Amino acid sequence: MRLDRSKYSRIVVLTGAGISAASGLRTYRGPDGVWEEHEVEKFGHADALAQRPQETWRLFGGMREPVLAAKPNAAHLALASWEAQLAPHQEFLLVTQNVDALHQRAGSRNVVELHGNLMVTRCSNTACTLKPYRDEQTHVQAVPKCPVCGAVLRPDVVLFGEEIPALPSWTVKRALRDCDLFIAIGTSGLVTPAANYVRGAEYAGARTILVNLEPMAQPNPAFKEQYLGPAEKILPALLAL
Ligand SMILES: [Zn+2]
Repeated sequence: MRLDRSKYSRIVVLTGAGISAASGLRTYRGPDGVWEEHEVEKFGHADALAQRPQETWRLFGGMREPVLAAKPNAAHLALASWEAQLAPHQEFLLVTQNVDALHQRAGSRNVVELHGNLMVTRCSNTACTLKPYRDEQTHVQAVPKCPVCGAVLRPDVVLFGEEIPALPSWTVKRALRDCDLFIAIGTSGLVTPAANYVRGAEYAGARTILVNLEPMAQPNPAFKEQYLGPAEKILPALLAL
């Protein structure tokens, strides 16, 4: 199953929550235990930030400690060393839906974070000049205010009800246009963005591979190959140097 990486010159990899499961980050965990999915959707919504920002911070701020404590697993490490071994003419883009920054901690360099970075705080006022900054504080007790404009500060993640920002979105579209290898890992092959991305890659003539714990409920024909199992087992074999 080993991929011959020398055959490809434009590689796009998409990762989702499944790749961080072996690092202990499969579920939303905060100081109050594990969040229910409906709570995540409610408190992680843009409306909650506007009306009850303390709830948004309890949810996302509370995840900062587990994320800091988590370590990249064999799947993150395999992707990072694969990227490091590519020849200068080979382009590689790692697109992630995760906000845990474990790819960067594993050593991946060319990473696009579709949903932002949990460990970064920014101002909720889009006209403000405050630069987003790394922040390890959880703010679960008190909502932090912007030192420049006084507005509420927020975690730099894409909330429910918000769009993926234009720059990451555009970077991925451009990379897919002439991609010759597309691998989606730890994400359902059926929902966006994976479903759209794989169609774009297929249109460009790329080899398309899905690595996931479970098979797709309805097969997506744009994925020509599928490897089922934990990413931390499959990737070290698939990407063996
Ligand atoms: Zn501000």
